Amino acid sequence: MKQLLSRKLRLFITCLTLSVSSFYAQAKDELTLRYTANAGVIIASGPSRVLVDTFFSRTFGRFHALDREGHKRIYSQQIPLALATHIHGDHFTSGPVIGYLNSNPSTTFAGSEQVVTQLRGKVKDKQLVSAKLGPAEKMSFEKNGMTVSMLNMPHGDGQFATIQNYAQYIDINGWKVLHVGDAAIDLDNTAKLGFDELQIDVAIVPYWYLFTEGGKEQMELIGADNWVFVHMPEEDIDRFDQALKKKRSDAETLSLKNKTVKYSREI
Ligand SMILES: [Zn+2]
Ligand SMILES: [Zn+2]
Repeated sequence: MKQLLSRKLRLFITCLTLSVSSFYAQAKDELTLRYTANAGVIIASGPSRVLVDTFFSRTFGRFHALDREGHKRIYSQQIPLALATHIHGDHFTSGPVIGYLNSNPSTTFAGSEQVVTQLRGKVKDKQLVSAKLGPAEKMSFEKNGMTVSMLNMPHGDGQFATIQNYAQYIDINGWKVLHVGDAAIDLDNTAKLGFDELQIDVAIVPYWYLFTEGGKEQMELIGADNWVFVHMPEEDIDRFDQALKKKRSDAETLSLKNKTVKYSREI
């Protein structure tokens, strides 16, 4: 009887171990993109999390920004890595970033030199990562098992010519995610960045890629397996959502309307 019980117990323990390990395998293998505001996204997989273009306060009268409560919700989470693509106020505002980095001293923040310059002297130097990148240049670093590459993808001509826009490529738990910020359509520059080697699982791009000349070609050069559109004007979200789905039924959107996108794959 004792032997039978112990065999049963062993079997139970084995089953428990299997189900716990398959739970972790599943959790590890899922990728979640959670909308915060405008182009702001929390990227999560397994125990890893990254913030991209999350802390900002300007709407330019068109875009959704987090209110105080929304910022508080993010402040309540200790996320080891925060990234910003560029200095525009609908992607980055120094105040909330400084507050977050000071209350999370082990968090690393990376972005364009213009962005990081605004933080120097206000947070610990070791929390900041940046580099001055020339056309089609990139740099990489690691944080908590994640690899990040910042790729110089210009914001555009004219008034945007001086804005450094660094696309953020993150290898998180085996998922390869790209967030281009406000990268303009620039086929020459994009072709030189070597996207073939990056093998992107999910690319997060502004909605206008589908409505701008050359957008389709730029997406082909990036060559992601999956697409997520962001940066839709708040009042037109329904209209853009429908138009985007019509043009790319396989793509997803992240907005006030659709706040979470999940991907999973077998190991
Ligand atoms: Zn911009
Ligand atoms: Zn923008």
